[in-house]
Amino acid sequence: MYSQKRIVRRDVAMIQDIAPHIFDNAYQTGRRPKDGDRILFYQRRETLLNKDTGHPFTVSEAEELWPVESIPAVYLFSIDDVGFYWGRVIPKAVEEASIIVDNRHFRDMKPEWMAFSCITASQLHSFYHEHQFCGCCGAPALPDEKERAMRCPVCGHIVYPNIAPAIIAGVTHGDRLLLTRYAGKGAYKHYALVAGYTEIGEPLEDTVRREVMEETGLRVTNIRFYKSQPWSFSGSLLAGFFCDLEGDDETVRLQEDELSEAVWFSRDELPDGGGSDISLTHEMIERFRSRPV
Ligand SMILES: [Zn+2]
Repeated sequence: MYSQKRIVRRDVAMIQDIAPHIFDNAYQTGRRPKDGDRILFYQRRETLLNKDTGHPFTVSEAEELWPVESIPAVYLFSIDDVGFYWGRVIPKAVEEASIIVDNRHFRDMKPEWMAFSCITASQLHSFYHEHQFCGCCGAPALPDEKERAMRCPVCGHIVYPNIAPAIIAGVTHGDRLLLTRYAGKGAYKHYALVAGYTEIGEPLEDTVRREVMEETGLRVTNIRFYKSQPWSFSGSLLAGFFCDLEGDDETVRLQEDELSEAVWFSRDELPDGGGSDISLTHEMIERFRSRPV
């Protein structure tokens, strides 16, 4: 039996829940770093942080190492009145004063609003980095003047930031919720919910039906939207749905190349789920634990 302690609902905040801080991603060109702003540098997909603070360099910290004015910088967004920039060139002195981290580092970074800033900036950097050349004619592409996009000055082709829509499905049957675990070496081992990417031409509700069927062989009904979450760790936008098992047959036919386990848990036996407190999966499991959905 699980102890009472384990079923006490913890306060949860998803990664984008940064109140009272305010995220402002209005597109601006021509803006330059000022005192108090932050500059992020990247090597491939990894982020350089100030090794003294563990955070992105402030303008004054960077200025001590190299004239900031000489660093080509792309404005990304603001949190409150702090602008975040991508420094397109890494001065040697900055590199030497840095630690280099991959995106997993930001799952546990504190404060949470800084973690959100860093992972969001990383996804934006990937977009710019991967679209430096036109995908149609190969000419160098440029940031658009009016909106967040890369435009080809030769053929006019425009690319917008890639965000992959995906669903999370909380499959319920009365007071029971279906939890899954991924198969495969090194796979994510915490209990989770059925999840998957949306295909071209597919409404989100059909993704829910298809993914639940593919992964578990179950049919679902009464699909209802719960909440969404930007999940820059995988470049996706997650849409969370609760849905009900159709009929009474809970027998699971597992897609074994993807899942190692799919188990029904009653509300008072639910284990900790979702691994990370900042995820929508975690929030949905805790939401189901606390009351009917
Ligand atoms: Zn082109």
